[in-house]
Amino acid sequence: MDDCIFCKIARGEIPSNKVYEDDQCVAFYDLNPMAKVHVLIIPKAHIANVLDISTENSAVISHIFEVIAKIAKDLGLEDGFRVVSNCNEYAGQSVFHLHFHILGGQKLSLTMC
Ligand code: 5GP
Ligand code: ZN
Repeated sequence: MDDCIFCKIARGEIPSNKVYEDDQCVAFYDLNPMAKVHVLIIPKAHIANVLDISTENSAVISHIFEVIAKIAKDLGLEDGFRVVSNCNEYAGQSVFHLHFHILGGQKLSLTMC
């Protein structure tokens, strides 16, 4: 995926403020934070969004959620945080490389839409 911005971040071709990285995934601070703590975590392999998760590529998803638990503890988010993945137009997905928003560091509104 030559023109995918998150593939470029995963390959280190675009700088990002990383909080975690391993062979399968990378987590970094969002450029335009929507909460006091706003981290994105992505698989290194290109998956467009939740609709593209399948038996063949889903192992990285459970790994990502293990890493989310680690990041939440490392960043002191045990009081509460939210994990969000926007999928396609109606949800406002703007980058078509699967990512999970980790939002916390403050009391979050319960608004869903
Ligand atoms: P979406 O709207 O697709 O759910 O979320 C995409 C997120 O990626 C947005 O919150 C946006 O601020 C963030 N983002 C877009 N481009 C970059 C970038 O180059 N670097 C970082 N760190 N975040 C980005
Ligand atoms: Zn990509």
